[in-house]
Amino acid sequence: MCFHRMTIMADKSYLLDGRIHHYVVAHSLREPEILRRLREETASHPQAIMQIPPEQGELLGLLVRAIGARKVLEIGVFTGYSSLCVALALPTGGRLIACDLSEEFTKTARRYWKEAGVDDKIELRIAPAIETLGKLVDEGHEGSFDFAFIDADKTNYQHYYEYALRLVRSGGLIALDNMLQQGRVVDPEAKDDSTLAIRELNDKIARDQRVQASLLPIADGLMLALRR
Ligand code: CA
Repeated sequence: MCFHRMTIMADKSYLLDGRIHHYVVAHSLREPEILRRLREETASHPQAIMQIPPEQGELLGLLVRAIGARKVLEIGVFTGYSSLCVALALPTGGRLIACDLSEEFTKTARRYWKEAGVDDKIELRIAPAIETLGKLVDEGHEGSFDFAFIDADKTNYQHYYEYALRLVRSGGLIALDNMLQQGRVVDPEAKDDSTLAIRELNDKIARDQRVQASLLPIADGLMLALRR
């Protein structure tokens, strides 16, 4: 299968030795051809690092199916790989509200969503995500989402997390990407804004009684927080 030959960026799987990572991918990834093409097209993008690795996309799809999600929120679309993983896992009539700032990046996303026949499930809102999230609350979406995936500017994660807690139903799931910051969370020398913000949020989630949480060492660290 194609993924046996695919090149996987080492910096997206730095916690695993290359052979183990290859084995994990070979024994869990069932990436459809359209996702592979989107991933390969995005790999040449100057900001390709923003794309989640395929084994993480597989997990997102699995989680969407496992909790029977019908309504999903995504914060940070980029070229649409994770959105497409989610949309393909949603049942007929399922809905994904996707937030991003960039018309340019999401042009690629829209092209692939259409080709995959899931564009009718996805509502893309181009605006600062904080604004969109405030609007969703005003529009009466509170407690109505089953799943939220947060993968955008790290310094705003605290706000995205708080909004997600309002928008996701009790028993719904919030997933946050890049929660290990390439290991910088444990490097006392690392004091950049993103690392400081993520460290603070990990500390907060660890003692947050509103959720049950698990920080998975997959990709760059995926925090799962189950809304109580
Ligand atoms: Ca990410």
